[in-house]
Amino acid sequence: MKVLVAVKRVVDYNVKVRVKADGSDVDIANVKMSMNPFDEIAVEEAVRLKEAGKVSEIIAVSMGVKQCEETLRTALAMGADRAILVETDVELQPLAVAKLLKAVADKEQPQLVILGKQAIDDDANQTGQMTSALLGWSQGTFASKVDLAAETVDVIREIDGGLETVKLRLPAVVTADLRLNEPRFIKLPNIMAAKKKPLDKTTPADLGVDAAPRLKTLKVAEPAKRSAGIKVANAAELVAKLKNEAKVL
Ligand code: AMP
Repeated sequence: MKVLVAVKRVVDYNVKVRVKADGSDVDIANVKMSMNPFDEIAVEEAVRLKEAGKVSEIIAVSMGVKQCEETLRTALAMGADRAILVETDVELQPLAVAKLLKAVADKEQPQLVILGKQAIDDDANQTGQMTSALLGWSQGTFASKVDLAAETVDVIREIDGGLETVKLRLPAVVTADLRLNEPRFIKLPNIMAAKKKPLDKTTPADLGVDAAPRLKTLKVAEPAKRSAGIKVANAAELVAKLKNEAKVL
């Protein structure tokens, strides 16, 4: 069984991004970029399914600038078999990524597509759902457990206040949540071996997809600064403040 895993190159989660002076965007010049953390979980899950003998081939796919190759090499070092870069300098929004992913899926015919539940740069949480809709495949989003069988996949989903289990008929789209697994540490020999694994390149035009943005960013602003807290002398003062000032009691 073939699995397609989508990996996005994003600003590293340790970087505190700054808004550009003109408020047009965040400034990502010279900041560290890494694989989106939820996509690492998606790749890890695919590799575990292969190690369990349930999957025969893992294809990592990334859309974006040339440097996404580094992200794909990381996926290959984790255990993906080959990679596809859909190269473009156009700013990609979730709908464009979903259309590109559908085009790649149409060619590759995987039984399962695994994505992260959300990219930590745009926080959109849309691409998996849109991909499933465009393909007409079932979806299991926010997965915290995936149980793959020959024709179905059971997905335990993290929902408000609990867990929901869904049984999907394959082919299906699954998005990985935080508790699905803990991605492995990549060893040096695997990084070296990944350099020799195949990485194919294509473009949105080759795939017949118009990837132009449909949304326009009007303004980007820093969140409001939190005001400083105060110390109270005793519980009685705290209760009085909650009653009279915060009016929550
Ligand atoms: P989003 O809908 O933007 O929050 O992204 C959800 C998931 O879609 C990510 O975790 C990735 O798995 C996938 N994705 C989004 N953008 C890209 C991209 N440019 N290349 C590859 N995968 C992507």
